[in-house]
Amino acid sequence: MANEKKISFEVIKRLPRYYRYLGELKSNNITRISSKELSRRMNVTASQIRQDLNCFGGFGQQGYGYNVEDLHEAIGDILGLNNGHKTIIVGAGNLGRALANYKSFEKRGFKLVGIFDINNIKIGQNIAGLDVLDFNEAEKYIPDLAPDIAIITVPKEAAGSVAKKVISLGIKGLLNFSYTDIDVPDGVEIENVHLSDSLMTLSYKLEQQKKLNQ
Ligand code: ATP
Repeated sequence: MANEKKISFEVIKRLPRYYRYLGELKSNNITRISSKELSRRMNVTASQIRQDLNCFGGFGQQGYGYNVEDLHEAIGDILGLNNGHKTIIVGAGNLGRALANYKSFEKRGFKLVGIFDINNIKIGQNIAGLDVLDFNEAEKYIPDLAPDIAIITVPKEAAGSVAKKVISLGIKGLLNFSYTDIDVPDGVEIENVHLSDSLMTLSYKLEQQKKLNQ
């Protein structure tokens, strides 16, 4: 991809949203769109869109707009979605089960290949078509499953050791839902989803609104 090395992280963070909108346009059989129209739909300025998408070069044409399918595929490529990722979930509690049953991940190329827990009641249960495996025997299963991503949904006390174990077994990407920050070595990438933090931010905003209305 031309110019890919120059794409800033700020732009990369916006790409999933472009990808989502373009996917919706594609499924509505819309084949091309102007930056103005995309800007209206996404509530971003047209110049921001042009700037962002110019990073990949060659997709927008004056008077034509963007070819939806080409741009969708190019962004998918940059995000590494087109080859797919094998994923495991560690922690078959309420959140782990909900995520396992959430079909949208698979549609976006994140294939769930294993679910792990250490609780004997959970091990062997069938969740989303997979039998829960014993995480104490992770060495036995993970090399064969060969996942690149581990979704961590264990209590915070267990998160560090779970991360260490999956990293030692070659997993390079962690999606951490445990309510703690995990240190990872160079070469391993982590994204944290702290749902309570989002709720607290929302709570702050509501408080601000209340004060404004007083
Ligand atoms: P439930 O009530 O079904 O256990 P929960 O959402 O309240 O669900 P949590 O206490 O958040 O459960 O724990 C999430 C899951 O993580 C549980 O199924 C628990 O057995 C599992 N778990 C805890 N420690 C580990 C660990 N070290 N390795 C793997 N799984 C673990």
